[in-house]
Amino acid sequence: MTSEFDLIARHFTRPTRHTVLGVGDDCAIVQPSARHALVVTTDMLVAGTHFLPDTDAERLGWKTAAVNISDLAAMGAQPRWITLALSLPAVDEHWIAALARGFAECSEAYGVDWIGGDTTRGPLNLCATAFGEVEVGGAIRRSGAHAGDDIWVSGWPGLAALGLRHLLDGTPLDADWRDTCVEALERPQPRVALGLALRGVARAMLDVSDGLAGDLAHILERSACGAVLDEAALPLAHAQAACGDAALAQRCVLAGGDDYELLFCAAPDRRDAITAISKQLDLPLSRIGTCVAPPGLQLRQRDGAIVALPPRGFDHFA
Ligand code: ADP
Ligand code: MG
Repeated sequence: MTSEFDLIARHFTRPTRHTVLGVGDDCAIVQPSARHALVVTTDMLVAGTHFLPDTDAERLGWKTAAVNISDLAAMGAQPRWITLALSLPAVDEHWIAALARGFAECSEAYGVDWIGGDTTRGPLNLCATAFGEVEVGGAIRRSGAHAGDDIWVSGWPGLAALGLRHLLDGTPLDADWRDTCVEALERPQPRVALGLALRGVARAMLDVSDGLAGDLAHILERSACGAVLDEAALPLAHAQAACGDAALAQRCVLAGGDDYELLFCAAPDRRDAITAISKQLDLPLSRIGTCVAPPGLQLRQRDGAIVALPPRGFDHFA
């Protein structure tokens, strides 16, 4: 019989790089850098709600770390530490080893030390807490957008939603795109380097987890302004190539969820700086709209007509 302590020793104890005390005591000890604030986030993944119960364990471990690291990226923070609390129905050590491998791999890829957690029996549930650092006063919040700001999004939102539809109900995907979409869903790449590069450039930001339009509405609400998105500027090309259906591609880009791209607002005089960041990181950044004074979210269609856009984000309690 494998004890909780064996599991912790074998799978959850990893070397650390910038931690005073890691796994093994009652608490971990970390030392934030001088003049930096600690930035903290928690995200829980519940089987059946946030992932399909038969998801590959290694990818599930990766995603559990990635979604937390993405929240730190969205503040412009440098990710530093992470903990993992998990409840498991039974001890399948092969599965646990794969989960731990994926979680550690993602953490290491972003320079994050895995410093503790909790392990208990129960329905499959994974909860990570990630800690990052940002210079005091330097975090990029949701509340800083102004009327007249440009609205930008990174990468190719919509692919993860297509991957999910493909797995759930067999939505057909182009053979060349299938793996890309499923990877976008199961192995998201948090935009840490972009978040760091946007410090002092973007003045409002979040990571897109519940759909671009719905998440943008959070920025608008916090910033007390509205927005007009430009249909012709949406980064639709990849989603459209993947599913071959323009309407579905647009729905997935605007309201798909699980993208973990960064959505941010910046003054128009920052366009050159943002273009340079895009080049330097080799990451497409699309300028998709403008913040406006009247509240609400609208879409300027290709024919020039402006229509109201229901946010349609994902809300677990709606
Ligand atoms: P306590 O009884 O004091 O809560 P535990 O027995 O739960 O301690 O944990 C012992 C050590 O193992 C602690 O350092 C804890 O952070 C670590 N630990 C437990 N579960 C995990 C996990 N899933 N990942 C990383 N560390 C873990
Ligand atoms: Mg204790």
